[in-house]
Amino acid sequence: MEEDTGPKFTTSFLKKEVPKSDQAKELLNWCYVLAKYNEGTSGNLSFRTENGCIITGTGTDLGKATIYDLVEVTGFNEEKKEIQAKGIKEPSSEAFLHLKIYQKIGKINAVFHGHTLDIPNVPVTDKEYPYGTLELADSVADLAEKTNFLIAKNHGFFSLGRTMDDAGKQIINKIN
Ligand SMILES: [Zn+2]
Repeated sequence: MEEDTGPKFTTSFLKKEVPKSDQAKELLNWCYVLAKYNEGTSGNLSFRTENGCIITGTGTDLGKATIYDLVEVTGFNEEKKEIQAKGIKEPSSEAFLHLKIYQKIGKINAVFHGHTLDIPNVPVTDKEYPYGTLELADSVADLAEKTNFLIAKNHGFFSLGRTMDDAGKQIINKIN
């Protein structure tokens, strides 16, 4: 399941500029690492900020990501299906899924997602939902309350961590 077909929500840009954060470089480094472990170079990575999270933009090739691919997501209106963001690119179609996890689980500060499915002994969500839907976001966020590493059925894995290092190393351990 690819996410390159574009987001299923509208984005309201509060500011059309690259988000500033000291941690952006760390996120980009994990993008490059995961491009090697992940199946293909699609997926999305984020870390918590004061206002929401900074996440890779839609259709980002993780192996070639730059600062211009990063977007800060500061809010989501479920009724209007509208994301508030600061950045140049549209945020990943799973941006509000990431946001949901941060809102629900206070100790999680990094969420990394890729599309490798062949990982043994990992909890899997009960039902398959299309990417970018509220149902997918809810099913992942619910299971994420019980485990830091999970698979969204027939879609891909989500690795959650207190730090980016935790989320990233967890993937390397599970996939190797
Ligand atoms: Zn995905």
